[in-house]
Amino acid sequence: MILVVFGAPGVGKGTQAELLSKRRAIPHLSTGAALRQAIAEKTGLGITAKEFVEAGRLVPDEIVTGIVKETLEHDEYKSGCILDGFPRTKAQAEALDAILQAQGRAVSCVINVDVKSDEIVRRMLNRGRQDDTEEIIRERLAVYENSTFPLLEYYKQRGKLCTVDGNSDVEEVYGKIEKVINNL
Ligand code: AMP
Repeated sequence: MILVVFGAPGVGKGTQAELLSKRRAIPHLSTGAALRQAIAEKTGLGITAKEFVEAGRLVPDEIVTGIVKETLEHDEYKSGCILDGFPRTKAQAEALDAILQAQGRAVSCVINVDVKSDEIVRRMLNRGRQDDTEEIIRERLAVYENSTFPLLEYYKQRGKLCTVDGNSDVEEVYGKIEKVINNL
C-alpha cells in the first residue's frame, strides 16, 4: 500500500504519518525529515537543500524526487510506504507515478488532512521548529497555495483523493484516517 499523507504545512501530516507507520507497520518517508537530517549531517545534499529549507521554499524537484526514488527501491519499502510531505508539485506527482509504475505499483490513496488556516498558524507556532518563524510560515503557506494545493485536483481526477477533517485532536483525526484506509 502506497499512502500519501497530504495537506498544508502544520496540519499534522508528520504526526499522523508516524502513527500510521507504527500502528500499521508500514515504513514511513518524510522528505522534510530526510532533508533536515542531511542538513544536520552537512552532506552534499544537505548543503544544497539548506538555503531552500531555511527560506521556506521548495527544494528543487530533481533532488527530492531522487531521495524518494532511492528510498522506494530499498527492500524495506517493497511492501509499501507512507509518504509525508511528498509530492508537493505536479512534477513530483508525475515522477512518483513513473517510479511506482516502473515497480508495478501505484499510489493507493492520498489522504488530504484539512485544517482551517488560523488553526494551522497556531499549531506551527507551537511546534517551535527552526523554519517555523512567522515570516517563513507565511512563505511556506504561500508555496503550498501556489504549487501544492493544485495537486488535490490531480489526485481527484485520478480517483485517489480522500479528505479528512483535521480540526480535532490527534486520535480523532487518526480514527478518521483509519476508516478511510479500511475502506480502500
Ligand atoms: P516538511 O517537514 O514537510 O514541512 O518540510 C520542510 C521543508 O523541507 C519544506 O518547507 C521544504 O523546504 C522542504 N521539503 C520537504 N519536502 C519537500 C518536497 N516534496 N519538495 C520540495 N521541498 C520539500
